[in-house]
Amino acid sequence: MDVSGRIRGISAEIADACGRSGRDAQSVSLMLVTKTVPASRISQAVQCGHRLFGENKIQEVQEKWAAPELQSLKPDFIGHLQTNKVKPCLDACARIHSVDRMRLVEALDRELQARGEKREVLLQVNTSGEASKFGVPLEEAMGFARSVKRYPTLDVRGLMTLAVFSREEEKVRPCFKKLQRLFAEIRDEDLFGGGFRHLSMGMSGDYRLAVEEGSTIVRIGTAVFGARATPDSFYWPEAAPKRQG
Ligand SMILES: *Cc1c(COP(=O)(O)O)cnc(C)c1O
Repeated sequence: MDVSGRIRGISAEIADACGRSGRDAQSVSLMLVTKTVPASRISQAVQCGHRLFGENKIQEVQEKWAAPELQSLKPDFIGHLQTNKVKPCLDACARIHSVDRMRLVEALDRELQARGEKREVLLQVNTSGEASKFGVPLEEAMGFARSVKRYPTLDVRGLMTLAVFSREEEKVRPCFKKLQRLFAEIRDEDLFGGGFRHLSMGMSGDYRLAVEEGSTIVRIGTAVFGARATPDSFYWPEAAPKRQG
């Protein structure tokens, strides 16, 4: 099936999951994760009107998104961001979903202040408890959010997580529930105002559950573009267990 057919299929699944959980289907955005996908295939999605993309590696964004057919677009950044890549990330990407430590917050703030800019970001939380996943540990996340509030150059729009990679719903769903509960706590404290409204959670194997648990941005790669040639260990630490789902 072509890219547009798969996007339609996933959108229908998202609408179904919204129906099951009493949500408006318009409240969920489909992000296409395009790591390893060549510009020519990304542009097929652009041609069907798609505008929200995610990438995991700065170097790949710099190389690929300079292509003429993609130049007018910037992907969101969803990968692990090293502090020495802050400048190229701010240049080449739109929102940053993976803000997960104070050193990075400080580096982003320094550069944004120098530019006189603000940037929309999400805070990445480790809801699986797995050492192999990035993200601020769940127990520290509330304190982290309060600290980030002191940096007005960061316009915090929500939270992001990766669930446990498993086919077992009873392992995956609690990760999404934890992020949703933390989200509600931060909203109740009104740390970031009304713009704080995103839960970036759900990937090809688990986005239906994520939508049932309140996701507003699902990040989908393989379900649209097919399997990647690069192993997941290229994107996540070597210790990452082999994905089952
Ligand atoms: C690759 C990636 C995705 C998409 O994964 P799929 O299983 O291919 O849908 C989502 N989020 C992040 C952070 C990723 O790196």
